[in-house]
Amino acid sequence: MSTIITEKDQQAAVKTLERLIAVPSYNQPAEAGAPFGRGIRNALDEMMKICDELGFKTYEDPDGYYGYAEVGSGEKVFGVICHLDTVPAGDLSKWDHDPFKGMVVDNAVYGRGAQDDKGPGIAALFAVKALMDQGYHFNQRIRFIYGTDEEILWRGIAEYNKKEAPIDSGISPDAEFPLIYAEKGLQQSYLVGPGTDKLKISLQNAFNAVPDSAVYDGPRQDEVKAALDRHGFEYTSDANSITVIGKSVHAMMAPKGTNAVLRLAIALDEVFDFKPLDFIGKLFKEDATGSNVLGDVKDESGHLTFNISSLEINEKETRMQIDLRIPVTVDRDKLIAELSEKVAPYDLEYVHFDYLAPLYVPKDSALVKTLMKIYKEQTGDSAAQPQISGGATFARTMNNCVAFGGMLPTTPDYMHQANEQWLLADMQKAMEIYAQAIKALCTD
Ligand SMILES: [Zn+2]
Repeated sequence: MSTIITEKDQQAAVKTLERLIAVPSYNQPAEAGAPFGRGIRNALDEMMKICDELGFKTYEDPDGYYGYAEVGSGEKVFGVICHLDTVPAGDLSKWDHDPFKGMVVDNAVYGRGAQDDKGPGIAALFAVKALMDQGYHFNQRIRFIYGTDEEILWRGIAEYNKKEAPIDSGISPDAEFPLIYAEKGLQQSYLVGPGTDKLKISLQNAFNAVPDSAVYDGPRQDEVKAALDRHGFEYTSDANSITVIGKSVHAMMAPKGTNAVLRLAIALDEVFDFKPLDFIGKLFKEDATGSNVLGDVKDESGHLTFNISSLEINEKETRMQIDLRIPVTVDRDKLIAELSEKVAPYDLEYVHFDYLAPLYVPKDSALVKTLMKIYKEQTGDSAAQPQISGGATFARTMNNCVAFGGMLPTTPDYMHQANEQWLLADMQKAMEIYAQAIKALCTD
């Protein structure tokens, strides 16, 4: 198979990536026409200009939520879903160079967004440009779709899906090669019940992490300590409070962590007679697959994970915050109905907060098979397997879409970190893989 990407294509892609990195685009307060701040809108404007110059037809949402660039003709649309926002630079003293200059340092494109996600987006764009220059005729429309709020709440891509027709298939170059064909459904919710005047605690944590400490400064501490001792739960204490110690992991790996909030709740449940606490103490216990409540819920994408991260009890109410990662083939409505039923005897009510539908494109689909074949041919990694992820990419927001690259398994990971950079050689490899893949999928 002959190579598509030339030295010249690669150089043009690097120059353009430098240009895009030089437009800082992390979330800032909204302005007119810039719902996520001026910087992100500027990056969207710049991206549209770049695509125009390359010969794509562009459309920019007048409200500044998204844009897209298209080449080819026909009814069908193959989407390439990218995002133009980045996380902020963070502590500037940790960077060796300006994160927003846009330059090559030590054979790598350097700066915020080089890996996530400006770099992979540009690599895929210039892969298509190379095919255009070589006279390939596309048998469907190839549409680069640019989201603007991936790092926070996905409002840009939600707006796209509200205003535009669905694509037929596609890729999101915002993760790792070979490809991710399954991402669990992500449900964040509350369990809410009555309050009590006997007990007051406020353990507030992020939805998506297993809490590694839980402080108790209420009454009956000696009894609480005795309960913790009976279970062999680790804690420290002083004259005023007890701190239960756990081990933090991302919620998608909750069963591998030690949840300090659960451990404290189990101990409190043995000291205080309060029904909502029985849900944790008598039923849920410490099993973060939720199997004590819902049975063994699993499929090829793995087990259900069930993280209880926050617990608030006061005179008015009890509130637990939960993060469920639901296996891709499990019926979410049924699962939620069952959970609602199971918590009711503990005076708890299930309350929805947010949901991201799963990504699932079967391994034997034409899309996955073709992309895997190209990846193996291009890398020689014949043992590569399509991957499952507990995380979330834009691929799950679109029909028949998988996360495909742009990081190789050997690429050092700089995403969201200081000194973000992407090795030129890795970028070139990614471009070649994208070019071969789009040639295989979108030309005759
Ligand atoms: Zn990203």
